[in-house]
Amino acid sequence: MKIDGGCLCTNVTYEAEVNPERVVICHCTDCQTHSGTAYGVVVGIIDECFHLLSGTLKTYEKIAESGTVRALAFCPECGTRIYAKTVGEGSSLFGLRVGTVRQRAQLIPKAQVWCRSAQEWVGDLTSIPKYEKQPTL
Ligand SMILES: [Zn+2]
Ligand SMILES: [Zn+2]
Repeated sequence: MKIDGGCLCTNVTYEAEVNPERVVICHCTDCQTHSGTAYGVVVGIIDECFHLLSGTLKTYEKIAESGTVRALAFCPECGTRIYAKTVGEGSSLFGLRVGTVRQRAQLIPKAQVWCRSAQEWVGDLTSIPKYEKQPTL
C-alpha cells in the first residue's frame, strides 16, 4: 500500500510502501519514553521503500534488549518520530510511525508486542469518559 505523510511542523514529508497487515502496537518501555505516551504504533515498510520528499531527519541509535542497534529517526525541528530501523546487515525491521501517515485511519493494528510492560489501563479505553474535543474540566 502506497502512503504518504509527514511531521507536525511539516518540514519532513515522505512517501513509502507499507504492509497494512503488519501494523503493530508496541508497549515496550522505550516506546513509552520516546513517544512520551503509553505505546507506539508502527507499520512495516516493504523493501526499504521509504523516500524522504522534504526536510532532514535526525537519528538516535538505541541498543535493543536483543543487542541489535535500532535507529530512531525524528524531525529535528518539532521532534515528531518518523521511523525505527534496524542498523546493519540483513536488517528487515523497518517500522514507520503510524501517527505520521496521512492514511492512518486505514492502518488497523494486527498485534500487540511487549505486553509485559503495557500500561494496565490501555486494555479498557472504553471505560474512560470520552469528549469530542478538549472539554473544560
Ligand atoms: Zn517537524
Ligand atoms: Zn517499542
